[in-house]
Amino acid sequence: MNWTKDMQALDRAHHLHPFTDFKALGEEGSRIVTHADGIYIFDSEGHRILDGMAGLWCVNLGYGRQALVDAATRQLQQLPYYNNFFKTTHVPAVTLADTLCRLAPASVNHVFFTGSGSEANDTVLRMVRRYWALEGQPDKQWIIARENAYHGSTVAGMSLGGMAPMHAQGGPLVPGITHIAQPYWFGEGRDQSPEDFGRACAAALEERILELGEENVAAFIAEPVQGAGGAIIPPDSYWPAVKEILARYDILLVVDEVICGFGRLGEWFGSQHYGLEPDLMPIAKGMSSGYLPIGGVMVGDRVADTLIDTGGEFFHGFTYSGHPACAAVALKNLEIMQAAGVVQRVRDDVGPYLAQRWSALADHPLVGEARSLGLIGALELVADKATGARFDKSLGVGNLCRDISFANGLVMRSVGDSMIISPPLTMTRDQIDELVSLARQALDETA
Ligand code: PLP
Repeated sequence: MNWTKDMQALDRAHHLHPFTDFKALGEEGSRIVTHADGIYIFDSEGHRILDGMAGLWCVNLGYGRQALVDAATRQLQQLPYYNNFFKTTHVPAVTLADTLCRLAPASVNHVFFTGSGSEANDTVLRMVRRYWALEGQPDKQWIIARENAYHGSTVAGMSLGGMAPMHAQGGPLVPGITHIAQPYWFGEGRDQSPEDFGRACAAALEERILELGEENVAAFIAEPVQGAGGAIIPPDSYWPAVKEILARYDILLVVDEVICGFGRLGEWFGSQHYGLEPDLMPIAKGMSSGYLPIGGVMVGDRVADTLIDTGGEFFHGFTYSGHPACAAVALKNLEIMQAAGVVQRVRDDVGPYLAQRWSALADHPLVGEARSLGLIGALELVADKATGARFDKSLGVGNLCRDISFANGLVMRSVGDSMIISPPLTMTRDQIDELVSLARQALDETA
């Protein structure tokens, strides 16, 4: 009897994995992750693997934090569950809301809790349309999103997202959502300078507003840096131009902070890195470092005032909105981050250090671009370094590199032929060196 093989057989027999070709699990089976410590995960065969993705962009404080376990235990003993519906509340939800609002941009002073980032974006959709209805402009219904964006897997989340393969399954989509070009210079804009391309992508927003009629457009939603789409860092010209256009046409800005929030870009929120004043900010993931599931929508004063002053009851909420144990863990997570200066360290120390070490991978024959910001980064794999020509998609070079990297002891994610990292924010310089050298080894073996 082989424990791993038996477990894999059970997995294949009964477990439908998210975002997985069920049949392709095949004979080889899945790697069984058994435990984790610091920035490393361990599998049932005893391999130690550097988690260059912080789980799914969420384990910002790394694994093995006893203080988070204790916070959950204490709360589960004292009050494992109660809701915040109607006129009840509990201390973890209140304290967490207060802490979040202190960390958010100054004009953001409320939070509506959810259980995940997808639920947060469902909430966004309903809240945005409710806001405009209360403002006496019920025709403001359209939400402009971006191609290749990821905003979750619920029906509203995937409709807001711009992932064509998701749209092709299980439709129809939520009506009134339209997608414009993403500011992905390496993938789509190399015939122009990055700055011109950034402005052109912002201009696409204005064109779409004018096509739809500004009186019909409710909001624009975007991630500060597009995560699941491929760690796409917009050109510097992009966000200032977008900001200006939204202000001109009085359209709400929804900044999806599910990945960029909680220190990933070296500020508490990506909005602060780019100087944005969002009307709504969906959050999740790093909020609790993934130890327990929790999300929310942070709501700016403009929307909150209307919802509170003239809204009456908002018929929306989840059983686990602000779940006490999840909230207690999130709160402890934020306390640890504050006490240890984790965010400043990303901005002033390890972020710049990663940028220096990661960008050096651009000398590799397989790499067309190596970019990073804070602790998120990507390598663009190319067939021809001189021209930047891509590999034929059918070769699956990105997936090959991902599998080689995993086997060598580093989790990188592949998005097509872009190799992505988003490691724990607690990385030391030595660990960054280790990550970069494992990435180089994976490139060498893929070439
Ligand atoms: N928004 C963004 C930007 C994300 O990256 C994700 C998940 O990766 C989501 C929303 C959805 O979050 P969840 O998986 O918690 O539902």
